[in-house]
Amino acid sequence: MRARRVLPAIRNAEVVTRWAGVRPRARSRAPILGPLPGRAGQFIANGGFKIGFGMAPKVADVMADLVLKDVDLVPDGFRIEDNF
Ligand SMILES: Cc1cc2nc3c(=O)[nH]c(=O)nc-3n(C[C@H](O)[C@H](O)[C@H](O)COP(=O)(O)OP(=O)(O)OC[C@H]3O[C@@H](n4cnc5c(N)ncnc54)[C@H](O)[C@@H]3O)c2cc1C
Repeated sequence: MRARRVLPAIRNAEVVTRWAGVRPRARSRAPILGPLPGRAGQFIANGGFKIGFGMAPKVADVMADLVLKDVDLVPDGFRIEDNF
């Protein structure tokens, strides 16, 4: 709505997509990694917030070990149960 006010030329333009653009943040500022409770075979790697770019390679390593080898190297404080 604000964009339409600022730029009348787009007043009647069709909205083709929407994006909330909300940074994914857990209760703490640490990402959340691990198996999704109650959903066998499903995992979560989210909550990167403002450190997600820097953390992504390590998150990928940890999640690959967990998903592919069943080796749990999730750091303390990053587990789903640490965030609820
Ligand atoms: C609005 C917003 C703002 C953010 N701001 C910051 C910031 O300022 N600083 C910061 O450090 N972090 C920020 N983050 C967090 C950061 O973007 C993430 O933590 C980071 O991108 C996670 O990297 P990733 O490689 O794990 O996952 P992603 O970047 O999500 O990459 C996963 C990729 O896998 C692809 N994919 C998914 N499923 C499949 C499939 N089945 N087959 C093939 N490809 C697939 C997706 O298309 C995607 O390209 C922000 C996030 C958002 C949403």
